[in-house]
Amino acid sequence: MARRRGAPFVPARVALQLAFLALVVLIGAQFAAWAFAHLGGRVPAVARPAGVEGFLPISALMSLRLWLAGGGIHPVHPAALAILLAILAMSAVLAKSFCSHLCPVGALSEWLGRLGARLLGRTWQPPRWLDLPLRSLKYLLLAFFVWATWVAMDVAAVRAFLDSPYNRVADLKMLLFFARPSRTTLAVLGVLVIGSVLVRDLWCRYLCPYGALLGPLGRLAPLKVTRDVATCTDCKLCTKACPARLPVHALTRVASVECTSCLDCVAACPVRDCLAVRLPRRPALLLLLRPAAAVAVALVVYLAVTTGFRLAGRWRGSVGEAEYAARAREIDSPVYTHVGGMAAPEPPARDRLQVSHEQQRQ
Ligand code: SF4
Ligand code: SF4
Ligand code: SF4
Repeated sequence: MARRRGAPFVPARVALQLAFLALVVLIGAQFAAWAFAHLGGRVPAVARPAGVEGFLPISALMSLRLWLAGGGIHPVHPAALAILLAILAMSAVLAKSFCSHLCPVGALSEWLGRLGARLLGRTWQPPRWLDLPLRSLKYLLLAFFVWATWVAMDVAAVRAFLDSPYNRVADLKMLLFFARPSRTTLAVLGVLVIGSVLVRDLWCRYLCPYGALLGPLGRLAPLKVTRDVATCTDCKLCTKACPARLPVHALTRVASVECTSCLDCVAACPVRDCLAVRLPRRPALLLLLRPAAAVAVALVVYLAVTTGFRLAGRWRGSVGEAEYAARAREIDSPVYTHVGGMAAPEPPARDRLQVSHEQQRQ
């Protein structure tokens, strides 16, 4: 049920955010233990969790490109593609729901904003003349990534990237990026954290290319927040609660690219079933999903896609432990770099490094 005092929220959604964040922390800890063992020249005591590939967005986008071009599921980081497809699917069913239900960055950003509102009384909202151009930044970043992976590279170049030494250990490189942060990285992270306390959803609203991708997809979603005009009292509590600053009280159906289906507006509405998640057609006003059911639908869609990959045996990547151990010893070599999606190729006579899990088991 919704909380009536303070900022409204849907408990089921927040519980899911907390559970997913806990899962991400567990995956991160297990991955770090596994990776630092390899980097230290030891045999890891734990297995590599494939879920860490959720943090390889470039590899996932490249895999998606290859898959859409009919090149099949690339074997190096298949879980990255699975997680990306699951994110797209849940956001295409319940508008942009990954952002408000599962994304750990979105959860932290939301909580920092709520902390700022509690500490300072309110967070700063840039005026409209500034808000609009700032919001376009994330689309520019998305356009750059789409150009880099869809326009500047043909399918052969995409496959070469996915096969490259860099991509084969992209997870180790990602860990080292955060474990050995440069001053610039620390400064940017610091600005984003402090900025998120002062401005609600600073990163998500203005900068995240993932959010820019999910917004237009969410517009096509069949499940959206819908207002029953007949019972609405025009109290505007929904609009006041909306973190995306949408005029919910004046909309019949919320179809904005900024709506993340957080359902805070539904939680704020004092009229039973006036605001609810509904299908598009008017007779469907009677068919509504209570907030907890909407959260469950989004989660089921996500789990269906990732479970499908697991059942199909396309979850664990093909890079074996022996190959990781060999590459970890030379991780700072220029072989493990890439510039704008162009990764260094495998030097001659090193293909023997590519020992897959399957080969190791034989
Ligand atoms: S906008 Fe980006 S960081 Fe924010 S919740 Fe969505 S995917 Fe996560
Ligand atoms: S319209 Fe409702 S569901 Fe959409 S972002 Fe605003 S509060 Fe959340
Ligand atoms: S909170 Fe509910 S009743 Fe009030 S304006 Fe919004 S939809 Fe209408």
